[in-house]
Amino acid sequence: MSAEVLNGRAVAKAVRAEVAADAARYLEQHGRQPGLDVVLVGEDPASQVYVRNKEKAAGKAGIRGALHRLPASTTQAELLALLDRLNADDAVDGILVQLPLPGGGDLDELATTDAIDPAKDVDGLHPMNAGRLLGGRPGLQPCTPRGCMRLLAETGVPLQGKRAIVIGRSNLVGKPVAQMLLQANCTVTMAHSRTVDLAERVRESDVVIAAVGRPKMVKGDWLKDDAIVIDVGINRLDDGSLCGDVDYASASERASWITPVPRGVGPMTIAMLLQNTVDAAFARV
Ligand code: NDP
Repeated sequence: MSAEVLNGRAVAKAVRAEVAADAARYLEQHGRQPGLDVVLVGEDPASQVYVRNKEKAAGKAGIRGALHRLPASTTQAELLALLDRLNADDAVDGILVQLPLPGGGDLDELATTDAIDPAKDVDGLHPMNAGRLLGGRPGLQPCTPRGCMRLLAETGVPLQGKRAIVIGRSNLVGKPVAQMLLQANCTVTMAHSRTVDLAERVRESDVVIAAVGRPKMVKGDWLKDDAIVIDVGINRLDDGSLCGDVDYASASERASWITPVPRGVGPMTIAMLLQNTVDAAFARV
């Protein structure tokens, strides 16, 4: 059997259209656009591309996007002063500090995410929002995990009672997506670099989320027939091409649904950032 492809680009487009409608409704009701302020410290080329894409996508969805560029020599005190200003600014609904922060100085990523007002924390990384997710309470949730859940919803397959495995336990992806699957009444296994018999654990699972950062690690013969496979990994091969953490060729022979890389989870992340910004705007009024 050949898996159905979960086209993240198409789903992200639909999400962006929903966000644009919400942003227009917000403008009509409140006389201003929802606002997303992105902070970029330093000159990292990949981060520059990411923030430009976020700003562009915000503008297209009717969200006011602002980019604050700070030099790599910025001190923690200067960064916190900017975040204080943005926290206090009523026209700012979402604040995002592009990570990683440059090393070498006194910049501290945890202290930085902790300094963002939880009501404006559109990356969902503030401990308050992480705690809300853990407690099953409403709050802003990390974008990539939200995107994974939206893609799972697109399959139309009920998640209740399904066995799910999340490979990778980062605060950014693995841990939050596992919590979301638990909320959806899956029975969740979390795997990581010390997991024993990983292939066996994957073979028991109806839903597989791979968020590792190792090219083509999950093989087709690890999968249960008809598993749903969400591949978060983005890896660049020596020939310059991109691939995921799942061996797509063999996995798509076994799975019922699968996300490709690129055009799978990747486009969902920005779409969910925009969704979080509009959600934050409505929640703050
Ligand atoms: P991290 O490096 O923070 O975490 C990787 C996780 O994988 C760790 O928990 C690690 O385990 C686990 N791991 C490493 N090796 C193995 C192994 N052999 N077997 C099982 N588990 C293993 O990565 P992120 O969560 O930030 O990102 C994961 C991938 O997703 C990357 O490729 C990244 O580029 C991509 N990504 C894609 C996004 C998108 O928008 N599509 C957004 C964010 C990330 P341990 O904890 O034991 O070290």
